[in-house]
Amino acid sequence: MPPSSTPRLRHLNQIRRPIVGRSIALLAAFCVLLPVICGWSLWTAREAQLEETSASTANMALALAAQAETSFKVADAVLAETVERVEQDGVEGAAGERLQRRFQHIAAHSAEVHGLFVYGPDDSWQVTTQAKPPQANNADREYFRYHQADPDRRSHVGKPVRSRSTGVMVIPVSRRIDRPDGSFGGVALVTLDLGFFGRFYDRFDVGRQGTILLALDDGTLIYRRPFSEDLVGTSIAGGPVFQMMKSAGPVGTAMLRARMDGIERLYSYRHLDGYPLVVASAESRDEILAEWRAGAVKMSCVVAFAIVLLAWGGRRMIHQIRIRESLEETLRALAESDGLTGLANRRLFEDTLARELARARRGGSGFALILTDVDWFKKYNDRYGHVAGDDCLRKVATAIAAGARRPGDLAARYGGEEFAVILPATSLDGAVKVAETIRAAVAELKLEHADSPYGQVSLSLGVVAGLAGAWPDGAWVEAADRLLYEAKEGGRNRIAARLAIA
Ligand code: GH3
Ligand code: MG
Ligand code: MG
Repeated sequence: MPPSSTPRLRHLNQIRRPIVGRSIALLAAFCVLLPVICGWSLWTAREAQLEETSASTANMALALAAQAETSFKVADAVLAETVERVEQDGVEGAAGERLQRRFQHIAAHSAEVHGLFVYGPDDSWQVTTQAKPPQANNADREYFRYHQADPDRRSHVGKPVRSRSTGVMVIPVSRRIDRPDGSFGGVALVTLDLGFFGRFYDRFDVGRQGTILLALDDGTLIYRRPFSEDLVGTSIAGGPVFQMMKSAGPVGTAMLRARMDGIERLYSYRHLDGYPLVVASAESRDEILAEWRAGAVKMSCVVAFAIVLLAWGGRRMIHQIRIRESLEETLRALAESDGLTGLANRRLFEDTLARELARARRGGSGFALILTDVDWFKKYNDRYGHVAGDDCLRKVATAIAAGARRPGDLAARYGGEEFAVILPATSLDGAVKVAETIRAAVAELKLEHADSPYGQVSLSLGVVAGLAGAWPDGAWVEAADRLLYEAKEGGRNRIAARLAIA
C-alpha cells in the first residue's frame, strides 16, 4: 500500500490544497482587478478630457458670439443713424456731403465695416464710401428686393456676396428707407468684411480638424473655418448643429458627426442675442482624444506586461509551492509510515489512538481496537528465511489494511509481526466482523507455513470495543493485548473479544 494513501495522509492533503487554491484565486483576482482598475481610470480620464474640451468649445462659442454681436451692433447703429438722417435731411447738397464724410470716418475707424451705401428707390447710388463701378446695378441684390417688398424697418442680414465695387467677400446688413408717405424710399447698406471675421476666427486653436461656423438662422453658411468660398452661401440647415438647435435650444454642446466631411466633432453652438445668426466651434473627437489614446495604449501595454509577469511569476510560485508541498507530504508520509509494509507506523498509531479516543469521548460514541499477531512467525522465519518473512509481513499488512475500510479507520504496524487497527464509532459486533474479515483475508492468502498446525500463515486477534470513556488510553492497548494472548492460548488462528466496561 503506497504511503500517501493512509487515512491520515489523505486528511493532510485535504487541508493543504486550499493554500494553492487561495494563491491561484489571489493571482486571478489581481489579473482581473488590474485591468478593471486601469480601465476605470482610463474611462475617467477620457470623460474628464471630453468635459474639459466641452468647456473650452463652449467658451470659444461665447467669445465668437460676443465678437459677432459687437460687429452687427456697429452695423445696426450706423444703419439706424443713416436711415434717420436720409429720411430727415435727404441726400442732396450739404446733407449728402455731411453723410459722405461721416461714412468715410466710420469706414476708416471700424475694422469690420467694409463699405457704406445709400441707394435710392430706383437703385441709384446716392451716397457711398466706394467708387461706383461701371454698369453697377444692385436692384438684383437680395437685400434690395427684400426691402422693396417688405415694410419692416429693422436691420436685415443678407447672404454673403462678393462686392461689385472691390471684389471682397462681404456680409450685407441693410435697412429700408421710407419716404414721408411710408412708400419705399431706398436702402441703407453696411457691408461687413468677411475677412475680418476670418482673421478673428483664425486666432482660435481648434486643432487641424476643428471648425468654426457662422451661419444665418435659415442655415445659410456665412463663414466656415477652414475657409472655402464655395461653401459660403450654401445651406447647413440639415446639418448636425441646426438639427440639434431645433431640439436643444439656443445654446448647446454635443458630439456630432458633420454632414460635410463625416468627421465626428464636439460642437458648441450659440445663437446671437437679437440677431438672426448662429456661431459654432468644434474640435474633432480624434484630436481631443489623441493624447488620451496614446496614454491609454501605453498604460494598457504596461498593464498587459504586468499581468503576463504576474501570471508567469504566479505559475512558477504555485509550481514551487506544489513541489514543496509534495516534498513535505513525502517526508511526513515517511515519518509516519512503516518502511516495510507502508502502513501507519507506531508513532502515527499512538497519535491517532489518543486523538480518536478524545474525539469519541467528546462525542460520547463507541470505539474499537484490534490487536493482531502472526502465529508461529519465529518458526516461519526459521524455515523460509528472513526475506520470505518480510514478504509474508507485507502481504499480511495488505490484507489487514483492506479490512479497515472506513475513512476514519487506521491500520498500523505496531511492531515486529504485530499489527493494530483503530475503528472509531464501531460497536463490538462491528469490530468482531472486521477482525473476522481480516483473519479470513489472511487465510485466503494461503501462505504456506509447514511448521504451523494449520499448514498456512494465520493470525490471532484481540478485539475490544465500548464507550471511549470507559477506560483511560493505556488500558485499551493493554486489554487488546490480553485478549490477543487469550486467542493464542486458545489455539491461535482465532479472535478473542470483549466489551470495555468501566
Ligand atoms: P506466536 O504465535 O506466539 O506469536 O509465536 P511467534 O513465533 O510469532 O512469537 P514471537 O513474538 O516470539 O516471534 C516473533 C518473531 O517475528 C520474532 C522475529 O523473528 C519475527 N519478526 C519480527 N519482526 C520481523 C520482521 O520485520 N521481519 C521478519 N522477517 N521477521 C520479523
Ligand atoms: Mg509477536
Ligand atoms: Mg507471533
